Amino acid sequence: MKKAALHNLGCKVNAYETEAMQQMLEIAGYEIVPFTEAADVYIVNTCSVTNMADRKSRQMLHKAKHKNPDSVVVATGCYAQTKEEEALLDPAIDVVIGNNKKHELVERIDAFFKDDTDNEYVADINNEPQQYEELFLSRTAEHTRAFIKVQDGCNQFCSYCVIPYARGRVRSRKLKNILAEVNRLADNGFKEIVLTGIHLSSYGVDLSEEENLLSLIKEVHKIEKIERIRLGSLEPKIVTDEFAEELSKLSKVCPHFHLSLQSGCNETLKRMNRKYTAEEYKAGCDRLRKYFKHPAITTDVIVGFPGETEDEFNITKKFLEDVHFYEMHIFKYSPRRGTRAERMPNQVDNQIKAARSAQLIELGNRMSEEYREYYTDTIQTVLFEEEVTINGEKYFTGYTMEYVKVAVKSDKDLSNQFIDGKIVGKLQDDVYLMER
Ligand code: SF4
Repeated sequence: MKKAALHNLGCKVNAYETEAMQQMLEIAGYEIVPFTEAADVYIVNTCSVTNMADRKSRQMLHKAKHKNPDSVVVATGCYAQTKEEEALLDPAIDVVIGNNKKHELVERIDAFFKDDTDNEYVADINNEPQQYEELFLSRTAEHTRAFIKVQDGCNQFCSYCVIPYARGRVRSRKLKNILAEVNRLADNGFKEIVLTGIHLSSYGVDLSEEENLLSLIKEVHKIEKIERIRLGSLEPKIVTDEFAEELSKLSKVCPHFHLSLQSGCNETLKRMNRKYTAEEYKAGCDRLRKYFKHPAITTDVIVGFPGETEDEFNITKKFLEDVHFYEMHIFKYSPRRGTRAERMPNQVDNQIKAARSAQLIELGNRMSEEYREYYTDTIQTVLFEEEVTINGEKYFTGYTMEYVKVAVKSDKDLSNQFIDGKIVGKLQDDVYLMER
């Protein structure tokens, strides 16, 4: 039996695809072994979101070849797609499989075993029309929460981002295939699913007029065994009154919304080629707060974008305080080769980026703490996931609907169970203690 090892880099969509490839290899009769062990075939699902991600992708591919020089090393994903020529010249890489070609993985490996010049499967994803690439999962590595890919590609072309070139234009997955996968996962015990995509808010733009993200969520909501639905990152402008109101009527939808912001300053947003203003963003958050009680709103922010002055940064900082987030992921801008932002004047000094990042991390920590504190002395329902040791004692941890991490003492295995209890206060860092 041939052995295969896989390694994933990057986002949740890549993670989904890596698990799907693993399941394809298992069905084809491969034994899956850890990436650190000797294997006949190594697959690295690469990432290209930053120059650093490119570098890490190359490192993992080289590590694989080093582990077993006789193995077949397959580079797939976004680095393989955007740096096809470089990958083909790399002696550590045997086969290059671009995005939208991963479903052919097993056939492509077989072909290479027969003829080692048969090693390149990369579509011109930006010029040739593409269909959504169907991959299938029946389980995932996570125990209670399954991420499901429903969409691929992006039409937004933010000035700092290479992803539209790596993934191509928006392609939505067919409803019947999504529902079949959710049902399969539900039958295998998953109670919570996360709908995810490269640009989730664009779900349906290439389908019929009635199909969009809201209609998809309503269909998934009908699946009995699924008890919680979370949403991946959303575009702020999708949050219309109708969207927020309709979602609030769906009891399984978690009031946990990640609205990607990047900057709270309109001038910076313009240079980023983001398609909303700070005011429109704030209006989306206000609508969520109108229809949901204390929703968890989380976001991403880039500091030190080219041309970001002290004034622009302060506008963003004030905006973040005004909106008030549960969690913020702060990124220091790092130029991505081949993007418009890389060629912009007034690149910001690394020390300034670090100082701005530190300020926002501090602000984020304060707001997170405030958000969690709100739940002290309230009764919450938690979906427990795993046993952990905190301060030398055994607990089970899980999450509330709003994604607040909670621990409870228990001698029994609580994994994948919903338990109600009272939140009595902070246990450690971001973990709150529940008593039953
Ligand atoms: S929305 Fe912008 S940042 Fe997100 S994938 Fe598309 S181009 Fe990149």
